[in-house]
Order: sequence, then structure tokens, then C-alpha cells
Amino acid sequence: MTAKLLDGKRIAAEIRDEVAEQVRQFVQAGGPTPCLVAVLVGEDPASQVYVRNKSRACEKSGIEGRTMRLPASTTQDELVDVVRGLNQDDSVHGILVQLPLPADGNGGSGFDERSILDTVDPRKDVDAFSPVNVGLLMQGRPRFLPCTPHGIVQMLHREKISVAGKHVVVIGRSDIVGKPMAMMLAQRDGSCGRDVANATVTIAHSRTANLAQLCRGADVLIAAVGVPEMISGDMVGDGAVVIDVGINRVEDGQGGYKLVGDVNFEQARGKASAITPVPGGVGPLTIAMLLHNTLLAAKGIHAKA
Ligand code: NDP
Repeated sequence: MTAKLLDGKRIAAEIRDEVAEQVRQFVQAGGPTPCLVAVLVGEDPASQVYVRNKSRACEKSGIEGRTMRLPASTTQDELVDVVRGLNQDDSVHGILVQLPLPADGNGGSGFDERSILDTVDPRKDVDAFSPVNVGLLMQGRPRFLPCTPHGIVQMLHREKISVAGKHVVVIGRSDIVGKPMAMMLAQRDGSCGRDVANATVTIAHSRTANLAQLCRGADVLIAAVGVPEMISGDMVGDGAVVIDVGINRVEDGQGGYKLVGDVNFEQARGKASAITPVPGGVGPLTIAMLLHNTLLAAKGIHAKA
């Protein structure tokens, strides 16, 4: 079997066009131009690229994308004050604090990431990291859906891949990907209807016994691990749908680097019925859903103004 390629780039472009059209209609109807502010602390090159990409994607969708650059020497209290200022600023609808924060920040002792994220006004929390938004998701009445799992849900929906009644194995239990992913697929009513909900979900992690056997039993396998190509072909069941969230930079053997996922793509594509490539799979969807959330935030704030 050769798997169908799930083209995240194409689906993300489709979603971005839809968001752009909705932004146009919102502004035409008297709404403010949605505005996302990315707070970037320090000089991490990968974070700089991510923030630049987010800001460009905003502009293309008619959303104002601002970047607030702060030196790594910024203290915890200063950063909290910056976030509080953005909470108060009526022209700002979405706030994202780019992670990871520099390990040597806050005068060398590092930041308390959790308390900074907790400071973000839940109405502007477009990453959906605040305890309020996590709680609402858990209860099946989300305000914002976290961007990467929501992108995956959109991909499954648009590719007409139902998970209802199926066994989904999510490898990884991070607050950003694994946990919310599992929660979203196990809900009674999903954001795209019952087809992308009602799954029987198993969450696997580094302490899971018999991981290979567990994975082989999955109808849908979602890898969010951060270990290059650790999911080999023999861990994929015949006809499974494989979603590879991993983005890992590895040496390409020619003195340069390349990006690979958590799944051994060449091996897995011979077993799977459908599979996401890396790059070009889940990655582009994350930004598309961030734009979606920024528009949602602007609409929510405008409606209550
Ligand atoms: P984390 O490091 O926060 O979590 C990784 C998870 O994988 C942990 O739960 C960990 O288990 C588990 N794990 C690690 N090693 C193993 C193993 N050998 N066997 C089974 N489980 C294991 O990562 P993230 O969730 O933030 O990210 C995961 C990957 O997804 C990364 O490559 C990241 O770059 C990528 N990513 C991609 C995005 C996109 O837009 N496409 C967005 C976000 C992330 P334990 O909890 O026991 O330590």
C-alpha cells in the first residue's frame, strides 16, 4: 500500500483564504482590524523565524501582526508588566509569548514561564494556554482551540477522515500538543462535528510499556514526541492514518541540515493509508489556526465592547 499524502500546505492555504475573507467582512461591518502581538524575548534564531512567519501570515490575511522585541536581560517582573500592558491595550486582540523563553533570561535565573503565560488575558490567549481556556476545552465548551491540535482536526475533517469509534494513539502528553489533541478527539461533539470526535484515545509517553505493539493497534497514530524518526514502519498498522507532528532538525550528511518528523516517513508510507509529510504537513496548519484564533478574539472582544 502506498499512503495518500495529506497536504498540510494546501489545507493551510485554504484556511488562510477563508480567514482573510472573514477578516474582510468583519472590518467591512465596522469591526476593528484584528491585531496579534508576538512577544519575543532574546535572540533565539528559530524563535525569530517563527515570529517573522507568524507576522507575515497575519499581514497576508488582513490581520495586523506586531512583534514586541525584548532583550534576554528582561526580568520576570518586566515581562509580566509588558503582558499586562498588552492586556489593557484595546487595539490588541491576540497576545502570544514566543516559547521557549531564554534559559539565561531574568538576570540569569530563567523565567517562570507558567506565571507569564497565566498573566495573558484569557480573551486574548490565542495559543489557548491559559488555565481558563484549558478548562473550557476540557469541559467541551472551548473559547479557543490550541493551534496545532486544531490544525490536525481541520486536516482530518477536510480530508474526510473520521475518527469516531476508532482507536487513536497519541504519542506525547505535552500541554501544547499531546494532551489537548487527545482531549479534542475524545469529546462528544468536536469543533468539526462528531466525525472528528468520539474517538477512543490512548495517550502514550516515555514511560509507556510496549509502545510498538500499542501503536500497531492504532487506526490513527499521532506522533508528537520530538525524537527524529522514532516511529518505524513496523510500529504502524496496515491502513493506519499517520499524523506526524514532530519537527526535528538533523544533519543531512552533506554538511547541512534537514527537517524530519517523529515518523520514519519512507517506512511508514508503505503501511499507512494516509500520512503527513515533514515539512509541509502539520506545521503550516498551526499558523493558519493562529490567524483563525486572532480573528475569533477580535470578534469576541468587539462584541462585548
Ligand atoms: P514535548 O517535549 O513537550 O513532549 C514530548 C512528549 O513525547 C512527552 O510527553 C514525552 O514523554 C514523549 N516522549 C519523549 N520520548 C519518548 C519516547 N521515546 N517514547 C514515547 N514518548 C516519548 O514536545 P512537544 O509536544 O512540544 O512537541 C513534540 C514535537 O512536535 C517536537 O518535535 C516539536 O518540534 C513538534 N511541534 C510541532 C508543531 C507544529 O506546528 N507542527 C507545534 C508544536 C510542536 P514524557 O512526558 O514522559 O517526557
